[in-house]
Amino acid sequence: MEFSKEFWCGKVQAISDAADKQETLWLNDKMVSCESYRENMTLTAEDIADASRRLERFAPYICEQFPETMDSGGFIESPLKEIPNMKKALEKEFDFRISGRLFLKMDSHLPIAGSVKARGGIYEILKYAERLAISNGYLKETDDYRILMTKECMDLFHKYTIQVGSTGNLGLSIGIISAKLGFKVIVHMSSDAKQWKKDMLRNKGVTVIEYEGDFCLAVSQGRAKSEKDPLSYFVDDENSTDLFLGYSVAGERLKKQLDSLGVCVDADHPLFVYLPCGIGGGPGGITFGLKEAFGDNVHCFFAEPVHACSMLLGLATGRHDEVCVQDFGLEGKTRADGLAVSRPSRLVGKIIGPMISGVMTVQDERLDIFVKMLMESERYYIEPSACASFAGVLHRDALKSYMLNKKILSYAHQAVHIAWATGGSLVPDIERIY
Ligand SMILES: *Cc1c(COP(=O)(O)O)cnc(C)c1O
Repeated sequence: MEFSKEFWCGKVQAISDAADKQETLWLNDKMVSCESYRENMTLTAEDIADASRRLERFAPYICEQFPETMDSGGFIESPLKEIPNMKKALEKEFDFRISGRLFLKMDSHLPIAGSVKARGGIYEILKYAERLAISNGYLKETDDYRILMTKECMDLFHKYTIQVGSTGNLGLSIGIISAKLGFKVIVHMSSDAKQWKKDMLRNKGVTVIEYEGDFCLAVSQGRAKSEKDPLSYFVDDENSTDLFLGYSVAGERLKKQLDSLGVCVDADHPLFVYLPCGIGGGPGGITFGLKEAFGDNVHCFFAEPVHACSMLLGLATGRHDEVCVQDFGLEGKTRADGLAVSRPSRLVGKIIGPMISGVMTVQDERLDIFVKMLMESERYYIEPSACASFAGVLHRDALKSYMLNKKILSYAHQAVHIAWATGGSLVPDIERIY
């Protein structure tokens, strides 16, 4: 009975809180310095650089096909904004001071797909398209990638089908880029997916298959269907290194943005980043990239709904995808549709195990309050899932003890906090609640 719910609840306070459906913060006792985990890592800075160069090769193509990326030269990147009015609103709501500065990383407004999935999802499809075009003799790495817009290339891509399982946003991102390149696309949607996301995809010629069950079912059905077709490629959100690396490029890009705003990050000016987490690939890849960019001066926390805290359970037990939220009496249902995942990714859990600072949970009701607060204070709309990133301020006391432990509490007033807003700009007006 070593791995029963009772065993873990007795052993780890945060697991006991999670099973009681209480908000909590789990601090990672297996976290080590960057220097010590790098020795054992299968992925390296060179893998990020490789992804970064690939996105550079594609920039002329992206720029031409998606004019909204013109200003950024074909790079899919989002603004970083300081949100002092939101900070004041949070301080008023919770009746305490937040030390340091508060920023919003607006992946909610990433071009093309309006969510963090525009990083990993689009990257994986571009990489696949590049490989196909090169192996068929249509493309060299030194070419102008706008060549991929020719009928020849699009006809080649049209022979292949891309499939993916999704709670919504990954499907949107993969569907949009794949359809643009010429691929046939099938998106397997879980019951949590919003109707407007399915409608938008169908309007782009994407086949959407709906399932009664949750995200894991949509993924396994999609994987099975794809395996039967030799001309089908499956984007595997549970196990994809390419997705992970697509997200990781965010680290060096954020560093450039902070530099250009004159915001210093060093041992005396610690950076705290709060990332909404579903299966783990998005926040995990970004964490890996941030650690490569800022080393031990960045402290990354994942944020999950109380009812779908699968990554917390996977990491705190060290058993990753061998545990699911149902094992702990939770249903996995949440209004944060992008985070409605009951079993975490083993691949991601193992990679980020030594680098993640902790995982926090937040009640669904708070997410709606945060949506409204951000809208009223800063006039930005981000979706409820993305608002999990404001959970960082809730767990003030636990964060204080973390800082004390890391010997940085005396620099708290110089800290930079970033709430990573993971989605929202494509949400239609009538779906917006505030
Ligand atoms: C997918 C998603 C996340 C989390 O990404 P994972 O890779 O599933 O962990 C967070 N926020 C939003 C809005 C998302 O769509």
